[in-house]
Amino acid sequence: MRKLFFRSCLFAATWLITFLACADSRATKGNRTSDDLTIVIDAGHGGHDRGGIPGQRIAEKDMTLDVAQRLRNVLTAAGYHVVMTRDSDVFVPLGTRVAIANSYRNAIFICIHFNATQRAGAGGIETYFFSRDSLPLASAIHYYVVGGAPSSNRGVRRRGYYVLRKTSIPAVLVECGFLTNPTEAAYAQNSSYRQKLAEEIAAGIRGRNTVGGSLSTTRVATSESIPLQPYIDQTKVSQSERRHSKRSHKKTARKKKHSSKPASSKARSGSRDQEG
Ligand SMILES: [Zn+2]
Repeated sequence: MRKLFFRSCLFAATWLITFLACADSRATKGNRTSDDLTIVIDAGHGGHDRGGIPGQRIAEKDMTLDVAQRLRNVLTAAGYHVVMTRDSDVFVPLGTRVAIANSYRNAIFICIHFNATQRAGAGGIETYFFSRDSLPLASAIHYYVVGGAPSSNRGVRRRGYYVLRKTSIPAVLVECGFLTNPTEAAYAQNSSYRQKLAEEIAAGIRGRNTVGGSLSTTRVATSESIPLQPYIDQTKVSQSERRHSKRSHKKTARKKKHSSKPASSKARSGSRDQEG
């Protein structure tokens, strides 16, 4: 009889522990939404790396951090788990940014950048991806950002930026307009415009699984329509080669000024390829 009583107690205790464990797991899940997806936000540049081109008036690193922080706030309010690769004016090496991204499993990586080029007239929004499974996210973000910004649409592009190539989770880099274009620079310096950019990027994250399939506009790319753009792996070039690549780009940029081809964005600059 005593044995039976002991067994009953043991059974009751086991059942109680199982019930509490399940309840706890449900409660933890209830605190988050979106299948516990983690959004790793990467504000481009920082610290000694201002971003942009030499002599650029507006520091790209300040604009990227501000949009990244606004995006963090929008996503956190929507219940997402957000991680920032930097949350102040510090320099974070690209390898560290990638390592942070790759330390999360159910996650996506969003890099925020602004563009720059020698030609002041160049403008527009462009969105980059590298791995095929990043394309729906890139298309969705681009769709919303272009839709919400008065800037022109430079398209979704495939390119091997270090942070896009080395990340093992879906990764997208958004160039939110040209800080060397007077009109787009004025937009970027307006806090409500930066808030709008953050909200559109967040809308793209939320719509990442639906935009590509349900809409057929020119703002949405397909994997067939996007050739891989050339890049230079900056992690494998020496300092002297970098200087050479910078000079040769300047020559190219000057030549392109007189050609009828579209603006030569900094994205084509070998010296700037490593981050965007
Ligand atoms: Zn940049």
